[in-house]
Amino acid sequence: MHKIDDKLAKVTARIHQAATAAGRDPQTVQLIAVSKTQPAAAIAAAYASGQRRFGENYLQEALEKQIALQHLPELEWHFIGPIQSNKTRAIAEHFSWVHSVDRLKIAQRLNDQRPAHLPPLNICVQVNIDDETTKSGVSLAELPALITAFAPLTRLALRGLMAIPAATGDPAQQRKAFAKLRSALQVLNLQGFKMDTLSMGMSGDLESAIAEGATFVRVGTDIFGTRA
Ligand SMILES: *Cc1c(COP(=O)(O)O)cnc(C)c1O
Repeated sequence: MHKIDDKLAKVTARIHQAATAAGRDPQTVQLIAVSKTQPAAAIAAAYASGQRRFGENYLQEALEKQIALQHLPELEWHFIGPIQSNKTRAIAEHFSWVHSVDRLKIAQRLNDQRPAHLPPLNICVQVNIDDETTKSGVSLAELPALITAFAPLTRLALRGLMAIPAATGDPAQQRKAFAKLRSALQVLNLQGFKMDTLSMGMSGDLESAIAEGATFVRVGTDIFGTRA
């Protein structure tokens, strides 16, 4: 598992470099290790190297790994995959963050099902930043109405926005997409929202995302290797 340690160190160095280049404090960019399809042992290896935040896309798989790793303190679980309504209860019970909320009905269910003994569930709204027909996420046009409707949902903490832009190797195109998410957040905050989170950037584009203000980057492949 030395490999995971080396790869984590490389990703962390990239984050530091990108933040510094952008004139930002590297501490303001947090790394979510995306462990979907990876075994619990890979998460344990990353944990041994100091990683605490993990992102999962598939509920059943995530719950199994959470049970296998329940002896490890301070693990912070982020749900980042598409959400079906019949999965909201377990997500509300077993995660600290959900990055992929894009419908009011899902938000209402997460709110109603968040256990009383836990703090409010941290939420990012997923935005379909390039208006791709195949992708999850609310459009920029529908975003203000959606988050306005979250006002009564006091068991949720609306923290910010998440996006997965169309894949491109061109840094200028990457930055353009991330800039759209950044300015959407700024405009909404000027209208009275108090969001502090931009969840954007993955293995192939984290530098561009950090240049545009990412506070979480979600990195899988460059930590754990290619997925089966
Ligand atoms: C898989 C996944 C990632 C990680 O992507 P990599 O290219 O492997 O770094 C990030 N965010 C989401 C939502 C994902 O599904």
